[in-house]
Amino acid sequence: MPTVTLILGDGIGPEIAAAARRCIDATGAGINWDVKEAGVEVMERQGTPLPQVTIDSIRKNGIALKAPITTPVGKGYRSINVHLRQSLDLYACLRPCKSYKGVRSRYSDIDLVIVRENTEDLYAGIEFQKGKDDTGQLIRWVNEHSSRKITEDSGISIKPISVKATERIVRFAFDYARKMGRRKVTSVHKANIMKFSDGLWLEVSREVAKDYNDIEFEDRIVDNMCMQLIQKPELYDVIVLPNLYGDILSDLCAGLVGGLGVAPGANIGDNTAIFEATHGSAPKYKGMNKVNPTALILSGVMMLNYIGKKGQAQRLDSAVADVIAEGKNVTYDMKADRNDPTAVGTSQMADAIIEKIKS
Ligand code: NAD
Repeated sequence: MPTVTLILGDGIGPEIAAAARRCIDATGAGINWDVKEAGVEVMERQGTPLPQVTIDSIRKNGIALKAPITTPVGKGYRSINVHLRQSLDLYACLRPCKSYKGVRSRYSDIDLVIVRENTEDLYAGIEFQKGKDDTGQLIRWVNEHSSRKITEDSGISIKPISVKATERIVRFAFDYARKMGRRKVTSVHKANIMKFSDGLWLEVSREVAKDYNDIEFEDRIVDNMCMQLIQKPELYDVIVLPNLYGDILSDLCAGLVGGLGVAPGANIGDNTAIFEATHGSAPKYKGMNKVNPTALILSGVMMLNYIGKKGQAQRLDSAVADVIAEGKNVTYDMKADRNDPTAVGTSQMADAIIEKIKS
């Protein structure tokens, strides 16, 4: 019986975690849940938002289903989500974006997967503040060694792209495509402008692609990719991107399929994977049994696939699709009118999904 760490999170986290757990259990996947806390409430009680027992549990089990956690703006602790990704080296962010009939969207037949590199690029956090001594030194060094000049009043963010990190994320995208029976991987970059960072990304992508002759490979420049995703999303399948472009395009693709309520995700490393909704902790809805549990339940579908429970994953996915398509037992955000009194609560939507699994 697989053991999975279930992180309840805060805000709406505990409600959607309970809903997702019940739906996953109804598939008969036989998960042994190791329930752990993280977030603002545990911070108030224990003085840390991420207790060591929670990290130890994820490390030990290698798999976690995580409800959202609040990151206070401008004060308090740094993002637990970023901390977990860095400390567990969860280098791949996987975001499938699939249309479900009944979700309001301008598009009806989207089936894309975003694979975002999670550890480097402009998100590496190597930054130099305007006016500081080390920033001045760096500017002087660059001005001595480059024909292009940086003015003294600049702040600087560094964009590292390495062979190692690029190779492992592009391999991850191809391996995922192969495992999930997908046909094509598109590598996205701006190699025409950033020749030594995005250029390296493209060169490594092309090299890795040679090991996967059964999967089609192509590359796209990021600005063109944005336009193509709006105009011809059906041309694309698995899309692999450096960190910043991956962040932006995953929201673009979530928008194509109807937004945050239905956007699942995962952060995956070689030994550990954390499955979580794309959305946050929506604190204003805390404890109201109101929000949509779909994104975390679909993250559960990804988790079931990851641990090889494909039949259970398929059953859960179909049950969610049926409930959404019927449009009856769905939360307020899935109704045409958000004040529709027939909208059901979080746990009632989970009940309807469980009914479908059992029928
Ligand atoms: P949010 O995703 O919590 O909310 C954005 C909007 O979407 C709000 O209007 C909210 O009410 C709505 N919404 C979100 N989830 C919903 C759901 N399941 N059903 C219906 N409506 C839903 O984003 P935010 O307000 O920017 O962030 C709130 C907190 O969550 C912040 O502290 C942020 O740092 C944190 N956050 C955490 C994660 C994570 O744990 N992975 C991800 C994103 C944001």
